[in-house]
Amino acid sequence: MDDPGWAVMATIFALQFAATTLARNPRWLLSMVRIKPKKCKECLGTGYNLCLMCKARGKQGGLFTGSPLEKCSLCQGRGKISCVRCAGTGIANRLFFRLKKSSR
Ligand SMILES: [Zn+2]
Ligand SMILES: [Zn+2]
Repeated sequence: MDDPGWAVMATIFALQFAATTLARNPRWLLSMVRIKPKKCKECLGTGYNLCLMCKARGKQGGLFTGSPLEKCSLCQGRGKISCVRCAGTGIANRLFFRLKKSSR
């Protein structure tokens, strides 16, 4: 009784129409898909934040504090720590981008 042929034809037609439209105007698709990387607000896109424990000096103690001068335990003496929010990438929406693993 019911002939599903028309539905199949309509689907094929719709797919063809979409395909030809996209083929003629691929920029339209690109503009839909493209997502721009956003700078991480936490670290301003640097991927690092200044170490608060040593105030970016990389050292603790020393003069005025009475304790011996030591390498900062939080930042390992680097004065900066990897941004937690963006995992050190500097990009807030990093999940949309396939980043190469940076060797640190
Ligand atoms: Zn960050
Ligand atoms: Zn530190």
